[in-house]
Amino acid sequence: MKDFCTDCRLKTHTRVRMEIVQIAVECAPLVKVGGLADVVLGLSRALHGASQSVEIVLPKYDCLDLTSIKNLEIHARDLICFYDQKTYPLTIWKGTVYGVLVTLIETHDPYGFFERKTVYGDPDDQERFCFFTRAAFDYLAQREKKPDIIHLHDWHTAIGAPLKKFLFPDLQNTSVILTIHNLAYQGICDKRIIKAVGLDASSLDQPDLLQDHSYPHCFNLLQGGIVFADQITTVSPTYAKEVLTEKNDHGLGSFLSTYHKKFTGILNGIDVDIWSPETDPLLPVHYSLGDLKATPPFILQKAKLKKILQHQLALDETPSFLAASITRLTTQKAPELIKMALLHVKEKGGSFVLLGTPSDHKTHDEFAQLKNTLASNKKIHIELTYNEPLAHLVYAAADLFIVPSLYEPCGLTQMIAMNYGTVPLVRETGGLADTVHKGKNGFSFGPATKKGLCFALDAAMTDYHSNPTIWHLLIKNGMSNDFSWRIPAQQYLKLYQSTRKLALDV
Ligand code: ADP
Repeated sequence: MKDFCTDCRLKTHTRVRMEIVQIAVECAPLVKVGGLADVVLGLSRALHGASQSVEIVLPKYDCLDLTSIKNLEIHARDLICFYDQKTYPLTIWKGTVYGVLVTLIETHDPYGFFERKTVYGDPDDQERFCFFTRAAFDYLAQREKKPDIIHLHDWHTAIGAPLKKFLFPDLQNTSVILTIHNLAYQGICDKRIIKAVGLDASSLDQPDLLQDHSYPHCFNLLQGGIVFADQITTVSPTYAKEVLTEKNDHGLGSFLSTYHKKFTGILNGIDVDIWSPETDPLLPVHYSLGDLKATPPFILQKAKLKKILQHQLALDETPSFLAASITRLTTQKAPELIKMALLHVKEKGGSFVLLGTPSDHKTHDEFAQLKNTLASNKKIHIELTYNEPLAHLVYAAADLFIVPSLYEPCGLTQMIAMNYGTVPLVRETGGLADTVHKGKNGFSFGPATKKGLCFALDAAMTDYHSNPTIWHLLIKNGMSNDFSWRIPAQQYLKLYQSTRKLALDV
């Protein structure tokens, strides 16, 4: 693996080198729950490849996977963090992941904030991540070289925007960007936490500042980020429009409208050095788009991978149509539609592999029951865990990749699937609508109904079985799309530069 993203060596001669710090609570492959982790790593690698100075700041969780971090060592032990009118010592660790500097903050707090088995799901999540963000700012303010840009991600670190404005005069020349990866999660919290990070909670307790729109006795961390960040982005142009409408605004539409001048949608990329069918170390067989022959070589290679997958999962080793879905199983991802798709493909004689991480016990039990019912069916595999190696094999081996989300800020899985020559079938929403174009590189449907879904599935299965020329063209078009970080990284750099200029002009 190269230490920089090849696609992203931008026109560096025209660019100023900036000190860019990403503060986030996920980063692949150290700690990954979903797409946020991929985006933090992919964007950082792309900016690093564009000769920018990039640093990713993360909590030093107990559950980090440290196998991919190089030269990890303690950088400082003499820093402190302020929280709830006390001071706590910090240990700062530094290492590199795929060439990008990663800083891990070990907080010696008495609450064991980062000594948990999972990243999310504890009742004190808001407090844990506000504490971490405060610690990250204390670290940045105490170090000699101040960043030009601090890029915050989601509600977890959004409190950084008011922190910078009110408590960190040393960072006054630093611009703050907030990216909203999913507006549904806003970090609604007890007002005590805002006081604990050192902010004046009573002056921020206004409906146009941090007070939550639905629960006025609480604060809303994402809202605070929206008010005080210099620029706000979200992860696709269509989602940026959708969240301004009442139907999709999760109660924050009027806020985003107020701040629309500093709000844009930048489509995520995928890290094509990591998600590459040519070099993926998790694949036993490699392939590329190749030339445009009648039977392109990737068809044969994908068929081999299908057989390997079937063997690994103890499925029937037939060359039959294989649909797949790899997803968190949450309301957003439409688990009901995924189930319907699986049953419809089964009814039509096809195979289906579902790799899903249930978000709650109810969904887990529902899919566990389906798995039980279909246990003897040698064409269906349901796996209810997070499994990175299996995900890579499924992306490569499947024919059709299904993403029926009710809403989708960007979605990475459809882009990964296309890069692996797997045709996507998606609902027309958010970033899915920006990346999948019916008849060109995939299939899509509008309203979230069984009828729409099954119609699109039937169209896909008909083309797969009866129109190989069309099917191969869909694959080729998907594989030829540029889903890399090349263009998005340029857009972020432009945004950083314009924000920075404004900050310096003040
Ligand atoms: P979200 O961030 O909403 O979960 P995205 O499409 O942006 O959705 O990103 C999902 C990422 O998580 C992809 O890299 C996908 O491969 C991965 N992923 C999701 N579920 C699983 C799973 N059960 N096992 C392995 N990888 C998964």
